[in-house]
Amino acid sequence: MSGLSYICDYGSSSEDSDAYLEDNSVKAKKLKLPTPNLGNVPVVGTEDHVDDPDLHKGRTRVFPHKRGDWASYVYIRYPEEENLATLMSRFMAECPVSDLHVCDDIHISLSRTVTLIYHLITPFTKSLKNVVDGIDSFDLGFESVKIYCNEEKSRTFVSLAVDHFSNKFLLKIVDKVDDILADYKLPTFYDNPSLHMSILWTTGDKKAELTSVLENLNNILYQEVEKCLKTITVDKVNCKIGNKFYQFALQ
Ligand code: AMP
Repeated sequence: MSGLSYICDYGSSSEDSDAYLEDNSVKAKKLKLPTPNLGNVPVVGTEDHVDDPDLHKGRTRVFPHKRGDWASYVYIRYPEEENLATLMSRFMAECPVSDLHVCDDIHISLSRTVTLIYHLITPFTKSLKNVVDGIDSFDLGFESVKIYCNEEKSRTFVSLAVDHFSNKFLLKIVDKVDDILADYKLPTFYDNPSLHMSILWTTGDKKAELTSVLENLNNILYQEVEKCLKTITVDKVNCKIGNKFYQFALQ
């Protein structure tokens, strides 16, 4: 018998019992209810999450999957991904690394990936909206190629560093996002934020191999910048929380 049908059973039994109580001449009859067996009724699923790096091109999780934790980050989405194809393929041909992949959802991170618990999602996004409201839109440009490694040294990235002008605007947003993260006792961004857009990635720490061709990559960037990286106006800040996407308009 399911848990729900036990609840129905309780319902009908208590109606019977009320009928007895309304009639003073009849002493309330105590019903002995069966103890429900809820052992087979799943309230929260019990299966553990198992990561399979083969399903993610060799990527491993940098923090464990935990039920109730929502992986979240703030970023600027790059809307012209398809224009980057030539730049990416020329970079791939130049890099002395065999397992280079194109990054999904090309973006500029404005926070680390932090974990939010469910009931903080609404206040967190409200705070973000409030701070983003007061910031002006700006033109985004890039000036050089940089190589980054994540803190766990499990992935290395070929990235485009933003130009001086964009950096000033982006740092202003990072500062405001950091204030919110600090309010929620969440980790803030890097001490020396280096704002960039990663376009290729590979597994492990391949910083030395990739840095050895950095000059060539920068030459390719200068040749392709006009065609591949037209200046775009940034007028939104994005936030991903688990599988939910939020977008906040700049002024
Ligand atoms: P992202 O493209 O935002 O995913 O960044 C790629 C990697 O760069 C992240 O895993 C960061 O850990 C790493 N990174 C290393 N140093 C910095 C820094 N100073 N500022 C921003 N990201 C950094």
